[in-house]
Amino acid sequence: MRERLPKSIYLKLRKTIDEGLPLEAEVAEVVANVMKDWAIEKGATHFTHWFQPMNGRTAGKLESFISPKKDGTAITEFSGKELIKGEPDASSFPNGGLRTTFEARGYTVWDCTSYAFIVEDEGGAVLYIPTAFCSYTGEALDKKTPLLRSMEALSREALRVLRILGNNTSTRVIPMIGAEQEYFLIDKELFKKRKDLLYTGRTLFGAKPPKGQEMEEHYFGSINEKVAAFMKEIDEELWRVGVSARTKHKEVAPNQYEIAPIFTNANIAADQNQIIMEMLLKVANRHGLVCLLNEKPFKGVNGSGKHINFSLMTNDGINLFDPGKTPHDNLQFLLFVSAVIKGVDEYQDLIRVSAATPGNDHRLGASEAPPAIVSIFLGEQLTEIFEQIEKGEIIGIKGREKLETGVITLPVLKKDSTDRNRTSPFAFTGNKFEFRMVPSSASISDAVTILNTILADKLKEIADRLEKASDIDKEAKNVIREIIKNHKRIIFNGDGYSKEWVEEAQRRGLLNLKTAIDAIKYFIDEKNILLFERHKVLTRSEIYSRYEVMLEGYIKQVLVEAKTMLDIVSKDILPCALKYVKELSKTLKELLSLGIECENEKEFLIKINNLVETIIKNNKKLDDLVKEVEDCGENSYKKAKFIRDNVFSQMEMLREYVDELENYVDRSLWPMPSYGEIMFDGFERK
Ligand code: ADP
Ligand code: MG
Repeated sequence: MRERLPKSIYLKLRKTIDEGLPLEAEVAEVVANVMKDWAIEKGATHFTHWFQPMNGRTAGKLESFISPKKDGTAITEFSGKELIKGEPDASSFPNGGLRTTFEARGYTVWDCTSYAFIVEDEGGAVLYIPTAFCSYTGEALDKKTPLLRSMEALSREALRVLRILGNNTSTRVIPMIGAEQEYFLIDKELFKKRKDLLYTGRTLFGAKPPKGQEMEEHYFGSINEKVAAFMKEIDEELWRVGVSARTKHKEVAPNQYEIAPIFTNANIAADQNQIIMEMLLKVANRHGLVCLLNEKPFKGVNGSGKHINFSLMTNDGINLFDPGKTPHDNLQFLLFVSAVIKGVDEYQDLIRVSAATPGNDHRLGASEAPPAIVSIFLGEQLTEIFEQIEKGEIIGIKGREKLETGVITLPVLKKDSTDRNRTSPFAFTGNKFEFRMVPSSASISDAVTILNTILADKLKEIADRLEKASDIDKEAKNVIREIIKNHKRIIFNGDGYSKEWVEEAQRRGLLNLKTAIDAIKYFIDEKNILLFERHKVLTRSEIYSRYEVMLEGYIKQVLVEAKTMLDIVSKDILPCALKYVKELSKTLKELLSLGIECENEKEFLIKINNLVETIIKNNKKLDDLVKEVEDCGENSYKKAKFIRDNVFSQMEMLREYVDELENYVDRSLWPMPSYGEIMFDGFERK
């Protein structure tokens, strides 16, 4: 952009991007022209206003650069107006009651703070223009608008604190995000044979294979060639669209991988995470693989999440979560960390909301995933500092210890100031926090918007107090002391997966919102509505619409899963099981007619038959419950709750019997590839 734009225009655009100033029409006009030329040089014939509706996916309508002229020829044209504003047919996107379909006007508005990029594939090259999506009345219909608003709020309040502390140079504070994305890869041919994966993205059945992830040999394990080729292409494709990411084979579960881009401004990071997810799906397909982004594709092995690494950076490069060499003296650092502690404690519910999807209900608290309880890991050193502050006697900290390996030829390293705690949902990791509850398939925008807003609010409180103080140093210390005193219950450095922690958390009065439905209702809690309103991130009606969309999403997803289950049991499992029963009966009859001892065979047949009967009974029960959902009326919460309490649990029950049956039935009869085949016989087998 810099090379192509006239200097004055470039500077104005930078001001808009860096300082959040309004965008001038003249600038848009010139940028549009330059962008078009650049895109056409790269072979693009179309452009799209790319946006992120409330369902967490992305959308955009393709439009041609070519406009017909009256004389029958055509010219390439792309005006500032077309760059700034688009009008997609908005009626088909979820709006949670904000618009009725007959007044479906929605606009996409250019977000010049994120990068446009060109995607080239079999279908040609297309210029993607990141946009926000809002209604005719200006209400946010997407994930980007609230995120941008929350970034404004955070910057405003953080700057107030910085000014009081004597910083007069920074003009913006930006949340920096590095989002690690976990995913599974499986063989496409096997995928096609599993209707559950096809329709729902996760397996609804599957008996535990003789070998699961217990050997952990896959952790940092060697990568087979097919996956290596996939990873190479993913990295290249992402670099091409400006995402500097690197794929890694590092997860514990078989076939599970991770990709992490270099951290960047929250808005761009959210766009990039969407690009990464789409690219994973597309490139996997080219390699005869399927990428599963679902939180829990397989029962009994780890699920997938997204780790949001989060720091605050000033526009002149100061990381506000960097403790420096003497964190105990670093008032600025301690104030910002205190803001996090207070915010996370007071808004545990909202933080949990950002992780509330049905997929995550199978993941939170299971295997390697964070528990559903929100707590902060600070590490020994920081905890010690805060404890000293609370007591009012800051002694300072021990120097960093040396790491002794006991081998003379290995270099002696300085230990990191915090050990890793992989069980904490919200961990301080040296100069940033890592929030680990976010579902692997979700947009990161909700979580980041919530974090930004909470932090903005706590920084506002701190600024309000410090601005009034005569002795800022003393008051800052008072603030930190009060926060640690009142909110230390949220700090937990131990094993978050242990049973003891669940009991301890309860004693501390921390929330344990076990399911998505428990969490979602907190979204419309009055204190949370007021928080969003206070910082102009979401209006009351926008919150309610999002609440509706979340519930609708939950209802739709679980119902599709339930119906898929019914379909598979009725049309695949039962016919297979009955065939097997018939075979066994025939065998038994023959044995009996020959007078051969067959008590055990008979018992086996009875056992299988009992299981089949139980499955029929439970399948019918699930069917009835799914039908009963209709009787819940229009209230989405009531409906979602009914589904969780009845449909969801009935699905688990049905699954258990089917999985048990799978363990006994003739392999050649079973109607779908087993867990073992998918995980070990597929492409991973060397
Ligand atoms: P790990 O798996 O050990 O947690 P990774 O290297 O896979 O770590 O991912 C760390 C992520 O954190 C990367 O996306 C990285 O760019 C990001 N990150 C590093 N420093 C910061 C920071 N100061 N602020 C935000 N994100 C950061
Ligand atoms: Mg991590």
